[in-house]
Amino acid sequence: MSAAMFDRIAIIGIGLIGSSIARGLTQKNLAREIAIHDRSPEAMADAKALGLAQHYCASAGEAVANADLVFVAVPLGAYADLAPVIAPNLKKGAILTDVGSVKQAVIRDLGASLPEGVHFIPGHPLAGTEHSGPKAGFAELFHGRWCVLTPPPGTDQGAIDRLKQLWIALGSQVEIMAPGHHDQVLAITSHLPHLIAYTIVDTATFLEDETKQEVIKFSATGFRDFTRIAASDPIMWRDIFLNNREAVLEMLGRFTEDLTALQRAIRWGEGEKLQEVFTRTRAIRRGIIDANQA
Ligand code: NAP
Repeated sequence: MSAAMFDRIAIIGIGLIGSSIARGLTQKNLAREIAIHDRSPEAMADAKALGLAQHYCASAGEAVANADLVFVAVPLGAYADLAPVIAPNLKKGAILTDVGSVKQAVIRDLGASLPEGVHFIPGHPLAGTEHSGPKAGFAELFHGRWCVLTPPPGTDQGAIDRLKQLWIALGSQVEIMAPGHHDQVLAITSHLPHLIAYTIVDTATFLEDETKQEVIKFSATGFRDFTRIAASDPIMWRDIFLNNREAVLEMLGRFTEDLTALQRAIRWGEGEKLQEVFTRTRAIRRGIIDANQA
């Protein structure tokens, strides 16, 4: 058996993403030992039953002690309270990373109080499902998907390379990005689509009972895809919108203008304008399929 890439890896938050990382690490023999902590007793019991780690720790501080690599995989709203708990227990030379869907807020909440000698490299695997909890995870979640790393300027290159190699071993492709740019890109590619899906599904639920049944009956015509996205974890998505407020509001402003333009084109019967937009967008879908991200 080849030597593991890391001696001890700690994962704080053993939900969909944390448990998928744990599974991938074990499957590929990337850590000599895995220590986990989750504040939910149910998640801890499930993780134990699934055999996701060697150490099931009662506190985040205990899990990160002596770890060479720490993954924070909790909802963004929990970061600020977690930071003072883990910071004093991080060992010198350890890499601290995370999987949060917004990056500037993570640097604000987690990066402020770190001890000297800890390599802080925020990350975001662009992979997920609408399910939550340790039972929902699977090792192949990251296969062929991008993982964005947003190391602050001056971060040790050796540490960045080690983390990059780990994500590659988990099946990902890695891109290095500035945190502000990440938040803007994700606002349009992920956050706004979720907001639109939540809105459409919510609008439909306010329709009269009879129509609602028909919405479900005929959902395969387009609505169904929105319901899948709108079934995503409410806490996680609440935190994403609260923590990426500016970028989301900027993209929402642009979107609203474009929507109004389409509304106008429909009102005035401007078929050419509609066709022009729909033809342009079709090419985007083809590009996604060509890039193997469909
Ligand atoms: P999840 O399945 O809901 O799991 C999160 C776990 O963290 C829960 O068991 C939760 O317990 C626990 N937790 C909350 N606060 C904690 C704390 N202070 N200390 C220890 N554990 C705590 O969530 P997830 O989908 O894996 O998402 C985790 C992170 O990944 C989020 O930051 C999200 O933005 C990011 N992400 C998610 C996706 C996705 O598609 N799901 C994709 C990419 C990135 P409770 O249930 O008691 O709160």
